[in-house]
Amino acid sequence: MVTNFQGVARRLTEQLRALGIDDEQVLKVIEQTPRHAFMPESLAHKAYENTALPIGNGQTISQPYMVAVMTSVLTKAGARSVLEIGTGSGYQTAVLAALVDQVYSVERISHLQYQAKRRFKQLDLHNVRTRLGDGWQGWASKAPFDGIIVTAAAARIPEALLHQLSPQHGVMVIPVGEERQRLLVIERDGDDFSYRELEDVRFVPLIEGDTE
Ligand code: SAH
Repeated sequence: MVTNFQGVARRLTEQLRALGIDDEQVLKVIEQTPRHAFMPESLAHKAYENTALPIGNGQTISQPYMVAVMTSVLTKAGARSVLEIGTGSGYQTAVLAALVDQVYSVERISHLQYQAKRRFKQLDLHNVRTRLGDGWQGWASKAPFDGIIVTAAAARIPEALLHQLSPQHGVMVIPVGEERQRLLVIERDGDDFSYRELEDVRFVPLIEGDTE
C-alpha cells in the first residue's frame, strides 16, 4: 500500500499542467486524492501515472488527464449538484465530491458499485449517493442536475440525460461515438441545447441493458 503519495501526486499534477490543465482547484484536488486507493493493490505502483488502468470486470479507472478535463468543464460552469454515469472505481466521483455540493453516481456492475461505496466510506465522503442502475435512464427522482458527466462512451446522446439537465445553464460532458469517440460539452438554456466538441477520446462503451 502506498502511504506517502504526495510527492508522486505532485509530479502527476505537474504533467497535467504541462498538458494544458489550468484549473488550480481541480489540480489541487487531484494532488490530494489518493488514486492508489481506487485500484487493485497490485497496480498501486502505477497509480500516479497519467494512464487509465484496469479495475476488473473489463472496466478501467479513467486517465487523470481526462478526469481533469471533464471535471474542469463542470467546475468552470459552477455546477453544485452533479450526476455521474459510470461510477467504476469511484475515483472521478471522489474528485468531484471535493469540488461540488452533491454527487449522484450510477453504475451498472454491482461489484464495482459495492467497492466504490466502501471507498467513499473509508475516505469520509458524505456528499456522494450511489445507485445500481442503467445510466441511459439517468436518475430522474434527483433531477434536475447542474452538471452531468458520463464516463463511458455513448453510441448516441442519451435522451433521458438531456431532460435531467437543469434548464438554467445545465452542462453535460460526455464521450460520444463508437469507432471514433469525441468528447462533447452540451449546454442547456431552457429548451435550447448547444453542442461543442473538445477532443477525440477513448472510453469503454456505455452499455445498454440490464445491470450485472
Ligand atoms: N469514472 C470511472 C470510470 C469507470 S469506466 C473511474 O474513474 O473509475 C466506466 C464505467 O461505466 C464502468 O464501471 C462501467 O461498468 C460503467 N457503465 C457502462 N455502461 C453503463 C450504464 N449503462 N450505466 C451505468 N454505468 C455504466
